[in-house]
Amino acid sequence: MEAYQLPPNEKALLTHELLNQEYRHRKLEPRRSHMHELISTMLSHRTNHKDEEKAYYTMLERFGDWDGVVNADVDDLADAIQTTRYPGQKAPQIQQALRMIKEERGEYNIDFLEELPVPEAMAWLTKMPGVGVKTATLLLLFNFKKPVMPVDTHVFRISQRVGLLGAKVTASKAHDILLEMLPPEPEELYNFHIHMLRHGQRICTFFSPKCEECVLNGICNYYQEVRQKGIDKAA
Ligand code: SF4
Repeated sequence: MEAYQLPPNEKALLTHELLNQEYRHRKLEPRRSHMHELISTMLSHRTNHKDEEKAYYTMLERFGDWDGVVNADVDDLADAIQTTRYPGQKAPQIQQALRMIKEERGEYNIDFLEELPVPEAMAWLTKMPGVGVKTATLLLLFNFKKPVMPVDTHVFRISQRVGLLGAKVTASKAHDILLEMLPPEPEELYNFHIHMLRHGQRICTFFSPKCEECVLNGICNYYQEVRQKGIDKAA
């Protein structure tokens, strides 16, 4: 049997191992406060990191604090975060999320998520407008070190091309499937996630993936069954 014909769970572990060798293994340390991470992740939807940061700091400079953001005119808030995509949708969602946190917790503080089991933390977070499974899993993994797998466009695309996920699997199902195949430690999941992101930006890009340079080409379905046979060029 060729390496690319191995079962998906074995390929998932090999993918993790090969990407760990290619990119540095990083310690899982929260990069910003819990509230900052939540609101920035909401801002980051379809937006690059630089523009997301600019929006975050412009918003806080203009309105002072979370109370100021909640009470701001929604059009003014959308203007403050205009470097992100869909500011008109994100502004009311951020205000509603902040209101919900204040009403339920009495302050703008989500530290209590630390103590909640994953399903409860996920249910609480995804009640908020603008917070889907991806945003919730990013926050829970990056900040609270919970064993979840955020599936962004890079994780999803590479996993399908390599053959860790079937062609018909949806992004929401992919979370559970990948989680079952990978080592359960949050730091391992974190490294898998950030390595897939880096690989998706550098090598396994949406258009014209650089398969010849890719450390995964020996186990990749797309490379072995499509690229090497020239099927992608024929299409
Ligand atoms: S071999 Fe090509 S398609 Fe497969 S993971 Fe690498 S870059 Fe992506």
